[in-house]
Amino acid sequence: SDPILRPDPQPEDMSDKALRPQMLSEFIGQHEARANLRVFIESAKMRGEAMDHTLFYGPPGLGKTTLAQIMARELGVGFRMTSGPVLAKAGDLAAILTNLEAKDVLFIDEIHRLSPVVEEVLYPALEDFQLDLVIGEGPAARTVRIELQPFTLVGATTRLGLLTTPLRDRFGIPTRLEFYTIDELYEIVIRNARLLGTPADPDGAREIARRARGTPRIAGRLLRRVVDFAVVEGDGTITRAIADRALNRLGVDDLGLDGADRRYLRLIAESYLGGPVGAETLSAALSEARDAIEEVIEPYLLQQGLIQRTPRGRMLTQSAFRHLGLEPPKGQAD
Ligand code: ADP
Repeated sequence: SDPILRPDPQPEDMSDKALRPQMLSEFIGQHEARANLRVFIESAKMRGEAMDHTLFYGPPGLGKTTLAQIMARELGVGFRMTSGPVLAKAGDLAAILTNLEAKDVLFIDEIHRLSPVVEEVLYPALEDFQLDLVIGEGPAARTVRIELQPFTLVGATTRLGLLTTPLRDRFGIPTRLEFYTIDELYEIVIRNARLLGTPADPDGAREIARRARGTPRIAGRLLRRVVDFAVVEGDGTITRAIADRALNRLGVDDLGLDGADRRYLRLIAESYLGGPVGAETLSAALSEARDAIEEVIEPYLLQQGLIQRTPRGRMLTQSAFRHLGLEPPKGQAD
């Protein structure tokens, strides 16, 4: 499917840096998470201690990395970033941990993909700010204990269920990020359009917000494409007509669904009469990784009430059939 519509990071997002909110007060939406973080940050500053370890979970593109960076900035400490799959060996993690300064924020993205050996090293680091490293091999091997500076681990995951229990238990503050409302995405689009130097009129911004799949990362990408159309085919202002034309050409429909979403829904509707159908079957039929289906495609479709998860698999709702312009079979759930 078209990568500009996927919520996971893409190379062109690097240019998003200028748009990233820098402080908690500029961060739009996620009211509960923000209110809690404000208290924890304030308290850590007043106590003069490292903030408690924090876990952000939820679908990609909702602001987990952004919030971690904001925390470091608000706390006035350094920020280091890595990810579960990058930390292959215990030594990779040890090298990072021993280089942290007091109270720094260490951000580990995709923390559910840490290898078990790396996780073992992480536990004492999180609990007692100590590293137990094995040096050498065989009979000559010995363990050395290294004292670390107190630090704050911020973990991010799209799959809370894949975290081991001991790892999950070491986070004082697990915070769930939610899809954004249209009003919140509207504010984000207006702000980003201004920063990009291409003003959006209210109807134009609302059209992008409505079709951004509840996700700021997608809103940012759609905005960039609409800006291109506004510059080339319009007078440089984002209007509803320009936004609508650009988004239709990108294959983003009225609900913000893209080609991959519609393929998923159509498969269940047409080949499985609305379901139930299991995730493995869907993965094989769509040639999409099961993870991608569960982390990227399904959360938004569930939130929009287009599918339901049942013990026997996924089922389409009446609104999904209606959205596809199909007749629902008799006795279909809604
Ligand atoms: P995640 O780590 O959850 O995948 P990111 O923090 O990388 O998501 O955010 C994705 C993009 O969306 C970034 O470009 C970021 O600037 C933007 N973004 C995320 N949340 C917000 C927000 N609340 N307000 C404005 N922009 C946001």
